[in-house]
Amino acid sequence: MTHAPGRHFLQIPGPTNTPLPVLAAIARPTIDHRGPDFARLGRTVLAEIRPVFGTTNPVVIYPASGTGAWEAALANTLSPGDRVLMFETGWFATLWSRLAKRLGIEAEFLKGDWRSGVDAAAIEARLAEDAGHAIKAVCIVHNETSTGVTSNVAAVRRALDQARHPALLLVDAISSLGSIDYRHDAWGVDVTIAGSQKGLMLPPGLSFNAVSDKALAASRSARLPKSYWNWEEMLAANATGTFPYTPSTNLLQGLAVALEMLRAEGLPAVFARHDRAAAATRACVAHWGFEIQCRNPEDYSSALTAVRLPEGHSADALRAEILERCNMSLGNGLGPLADRVFRIGHLGDFHDLMVTGTLAGVELGLRIRGIPHRPGGVEAALQVLAGNAGPAALAAE
Ligand SMILES: *Cc1c(COP(=O)(O)O)cnc(C)c1O
Repeated sequence: MTHAPGRHFLQIPGPTNTPLPVLAAIARPTIDHRGPDFARLGRTVLAEIRPVFGTTNPVVIYPASGTGAWEAALANTLSPGDRVLMFETGWFATLWSRLAKRLGIEAEFLKGDWRSGVDAAAIEARLAEDAGHAIKAVCIVHNETSTGVTSNVAAVRRALDQARHPALLLVDAISSLGSIDYRHDAWGVDVTIAGSQKGLMLPPGLSFNAVSDKALAASRSARLPKSYWNWEEMLAANATGTFPYTPSTNLLQGLAVALEMLRAEGLPAVFARHDRAAAATRACVAHWGFEIQCRNPEDYSSALTAVRLPEGHSADALRAEILERCNMSLGNGLGPLADRVFRIGHLGDFHDLMVTGTLAGVELGLRIRGIPHRPGGVEAALQVLAGNAGPAALAAE
């Protein structure tokens, strides 16, 4: 066994650092998933998860990674040969479109540049052309984790409304839920897909579908084969706090605690904390003199920042150096961004000192690797953090 001293910094954009109270809840003995204690736990998490999605409708919880919940959203609402409209924000949008094709869906992929959010005008124009309503769903990724770009879901909803198109709206909120403002009901989303291991501060292994009435109605006539993912059996069992098959008992024990933590802090404060970490990170990266992958300031992600290294420098070699020296993991570049960018995750259980610790680790790596940069980026981050420290601290200056 090798031992790296000090606490590991898991600064990839998911899985994120799991808080100790959540780990402690997961470590409690496994309980009978058909007993009364579990029914109480089941009812609690199924009710308390709804406000995190901004919905009063049911949320289905699967023992699965986020990819499973992607498949569930499609399998429950669509029929073989159905057409869906997707937008190429980056790697995760690409993976979802491949998955759709494998299920026998005609996935139309609107071209993107991997540096911007969903183009709502392009969606509206395509829907307006579709007079026969062949397109059954619009599928978008809210926070594209490969690029650090957040899309405007409300604008996509308006695009559907303005084109008077009845397609369902399916949104991947896997890396935004619990980190960036999200409103399933208010934005008229039909299925929201989420996972446990990002803003919800849990290990991987749970994923979610928040389901609108319209999506539920569509599922009754949808003809893609579905068994494990079937909402109907799940919702029938959930009515009594139980599940049609063995749920991830211990992860659900952790989820109950994570939801309590989010409620205690308050979602607006959670989002503001992520905004602050992101602003400090961007100030630091700008000071170093590097570009970030996201082009438009209105699309900046509060969950992660993807940093472009100057031409001729390997992002993977930098990440390896930082892991070795600082015991810190950073996210790699995905697909065409491999070795070109590295990604700093600043989501989940994260505070100001972890922001500055993370940035100090990156700056140390830059120095060791001899990558040209303007030193002192961490100081720029501190200025942002201090400026947002609240009225009491500002008054004391
Ligand atoms: C992490 C992630 C996924 C994939 O989730 P898995 O749990 O790895 O299956 C999908 N979409 C986005 C936006 C993600 O961040």
